[in-house]
Amino acid sequence: MKNYREQLIDGEMVVGHGREFTSVNPYTEEPWAVFTEADETDVDHAVAAAGRAFDAWRKTSGIERARLMNALADAIEHDIDHLAQVETNDNGKIIRENRNQILFAARNFRFYAGYIDKIAGDVKTMDSYTTFDFTVHEPIGVCALITAWNSPLQLLSNKLPPALAAGNTAVIKPSEYTSASTLELARLAIEVGFPPGVVNVITGAGKTGGLLTAHPGVHKISFTGGIETAKRIAAAAAANIVPCSLELGGKSANIIFEDAPYEKAIAGAIGGIFAAAGQSCVAGSRLLVHESLYERAVADIAERASKIVLGSPQDESTQMGPIAFRAHYDKILEHIAHAVEDGSRLVAGGNPSSLGGLFIQPTVFADVDNSSRLAQNEVFGPVLAIIPFRDEAEAIAIANDSQFGLAGGVWSKDITRALSVAKEIRSGIMYVNTYRASAAQAPSGGFKKSGYGRERGTEALHDYTVVKSTMVDLTDTVRDPFILGR
Ligand code: NAP
Repeated sequence: MKNYREQLIDGEMVVGHGREFTSVNPYTEEPWAVFTEADETDVDHAVAAAGRAFDAWRKTSGIERARLMNALADAIEHDIDHLAQVETNDNGKIIRENRNQILFAARNFRFYAGYIDKIAGDVKTMDSYTTFDFTVHEPIGVCALITAWNSPLQLLSNKLPPALAAGNTAVIKPSEYTSASTLELARLAIEVGFPPGVVNVITGAGKTGGLLTAHPGVHKISFTGGIETAKRIAAAAAANIVPCSLELGGKSANIIFEDAPYEKAIAGAIGGIFAAAGQSCVAGSRLLVHESLYERAVADIAERASKIVLGSPQDESTQMGPIAFRAHYDKILEHIAHAVEDGSRLVAGGNPSSLGGLFIQPTVFADVDNSSRLAQNEVFGPVLAIIPFRDEAEAIAIANDSQFGLAGGVWSKDITRALSVAKEIRSGIMYVNTYRASAAQAPSGGFKKSGYGRERGTEALHDYTVVKSTMVDLTDTVRDPFILGR
């Protein structure tokens, strides 16, 4: 069993004082790594260390902060095979997807390192000729960063680089299912020379996240995860009056019009739901197909889904690995049972795979009613709901009839139609004639119950800064002290 008992607190790897817990490799279903839970004392130490480090870090030159962030990106790229292996052991996602996502994480560190010396305010004219105002974007303080298990380092790289670039310090809490790669990153942060306390990583399974987000020494919370946890976190943020960003789930509609580039759209539909075994927040889990193409598309998707190669996630040729952990596997099978009960037409999969373990067949339901449980709830697994539509208005109405608003896709060669439909959909991320595209530059985040705040792009920097407005009077005039001045 690999020993990951040590957490990063104040520049040192220390064993947590709480109980031990393990991570189970979803392919072998054997525990492969052991961790310790951060108890109240550990959380206190980590937050206090981040608080102490903040004043020096925010005053550290942008050149030095960027140097450290680029050095960390170099170290991630250097260790890419090891890091990808570790994530695949933890969450069962295929190795080439994890490798790609971790390279993307390194890219995010470089992107925000490049922004440090470009964070700038404005000079504002005021109502009097002799006064002016200037704004600066200042760091917020200690950021609590909580990530989900499906893409640990990639999700962390949406939070940590903009936080550090803006001059904040961080206490990171990865998911209990996938803490290993974040602890590997902690080791790299020490190696490249981050000052003690700037980056802290604490682990836990049950209590640690709550202790961290309720801590009065935390000044900003960023969370990626599920709605129920998000409600508790938002309540904790409200209690301490600190800003909070929430990156939650989705039930995104991927819409294929009759004038779509057909082959590309079908491939996009398959990738949209079966990449990462559907354990992707932006999964195109509702596929809306124009009635003129409907039966052809249903047949093609069912056929392609049934040919997806399941197997060891370590194998370069595998297309879909196992589900990340047993409780989630059981939940996905429950969603499938509900879809059958609700009268959806099963056209592919629908069962555990003959490979056994935590493998589920790529599953496709057609004729899904958008009000059914399958269409309204996030499955976060390899289960597609196909829904027919007559015209643009109906496609938009179905797409928007959801509590979520994370992502969506539109496939049409008519760019006016594609962009007009994309404009009407209440989601934070839209894809036109592509799906699951991603870039450090492109902001990502949700509408509705998919959350609030934005990651990536310059938008993320706004989430990690506060604006200070400084007003200056250039004259020697003594003002009337009892009236609001200009
Ligand atoms: P989850 O179960 O909601 O969250 C688990 C994490 O939250 C653990 O680290 C846990 O740590 C912590 N936690 C629990 N209660 C807490 C509290 N009261 N205060 C603070 N932290 C607390 O989420 P998940 O299952 O890991 O994530 C799956 C979801 O993430 C899916 O819905 C998916 O769509 C979403 N997701 C969204 C995006 C996006 O960018 N929008 C990306 C990926 C995934 P402790 O147990 O130690 O407290």
